[in-house]
Amino acid sequence: MSRPQQITVLGATGSIGLSTLDVIARHPQRYQVFALSGFSRMAELLALCVRHAPRFAVVPEAAAAGSLQDDLRAAGLQTRVLVGEEGLCQVAADPEVDAVMAAIVGAAGLRPTLAAVEAGKKILLANKEALVMSGALFMQAVRKSGSVLLPIDSEHNAIFQCMPADFSRGLSNVGVRRILLTASGGPFRQTPLNELQDVSPEQACAHPNWSMGRKISVDSASMMNKGLELIEACWLFDAKPSQVEVVIHPQSVIHSLVDYVDGSVLAQLGNPDMRTPIANALAWPERIDSGVAPLDLFAIARLDFQAPDEQRFPCLRLARQAAEAGNSAPAMLNAANEVAVSAFLERRIRYPEIASIIAEVLSLEPVVAVDELDAVFAADAKARALAEQWLSRNGR
Ligand code: NDP
Ligand code: MG
Repeated sequence: MSRPQQITVLGATGSIGLSTLDVIARHPQRYQVFALSGFSRMAELLALCVRHAPRFAVVPEAAAAGSLQDDLRAAGLQTRVLVGEEGLCQVAADPEVDAVMAAIVGAAGLRPTLAAVEAGKKILLANKEALVMSGALFMQAVRKSGSVLLPIDSEHNAIFQCMPADFSRGLSNVGVRRILLTASGGPFRQTPLNELQDVSPEQACAHPNWSMGRKISVDSASMMNKGLELIEACWLFDAKPSQVEVVIHPQSVIHSLVDYVDGSVLAQLGNPDMRTPIANALAWPERIDSGVAPLDLFAIARLDFQAPDEQRFPCLRLARQAAEAGNSAPAMLNAANEVAVSAFLERRIRYPEIASIIAEVLSLEPVVAVDELDAVFAADAKARALAEQWLSRNGR
């Protein structure tokens, strides 16, 4: 039998990281954990190292590295601890690694994910922000290295499964009319608009169907998540923003659909559990058990659909505008959103102010070309600075 595939899990202590390790642990003959990274949850990272005995663990700074290294030695493990972005890039690009799960949240995942792309690894992409920020450069790097890019986002994984194998020839060449991106509508789909002013981070994070990290949970409540996914879909499937339609589907059973010119509409269905897209991407083009229960259509009984309301979800409109503007606009949108969401989670702003901050940042700064990574990070930094200005001007 061939040796198990070596997997690096960036963001191992998070929701996607843990689901990935759950799937990997079901297939010890197929997969072995090469490296794990964590950021603030050091006790969890230690427990994961004890469970999976990786070659490397990566933490953000030297003090945490020292104490984790001591704990690992005391537990009789050979795991070596590396530090910071450099450590993340090293375990993403190591010649022994076969696949990298990119599951760090936000812009912090961009450089390590790109390091994996440039090293030609199989990329399991959960960290949508990385692709949103640097779309053209990211896809260029994928083509140059021949890296295989597999979407983990449930919608994009669904679309990937419903696309013909040769979709990279262009959507119109393979008979695709449009992509239908489903969205649950989140916890505030029916909240009276005048009550949105007072919703708490806990309410925003209480997603009706999915259990996720806090940042993506807020993004799902505001539908910025769907906006980022619209941009993500454009890059992954070479679609124009006008070819991607958002459909609210509260049950989260259909994970997205592809509409063909002959009238056929292909959908992928399943229980809302990220282990399905993770197992799909890990084993692609084969199929493996993910631990997800079979779908019970009789228990679900009905599927509903409605059009999104942009008055309720202004972030979706802002994201579509950024998708259409291209260039630096998506990186600015993403960075302003990251600052605004953190401020909301820290109770420094009210929920509707997330959209106000992003709208102001996008209106203040002209869209510029981003033909190198430095320009992406410059746009990101500029947007963060403008969002911080909004916060200090408003005394937050
Ligand atoms: P979590 O917040 O649960 O996990 C984030 C991971 O990133 C943790 O391991 C965290 O470490 C680490 N991390 C946080 N900040 C940094 C940083 N500055 N540098 C390095 N590592 C960092 O998020 P999710 O797992 O929910 O989401 C991860 C990514 O996957 C996001 O991009 C999200 O959009 C995407 N995604 C998630 C889905 C889901 O169902 N959860 C679905 C589709 C996409 P620590 O915990 O130790 O602080
Ligand atoms: Mg998604």
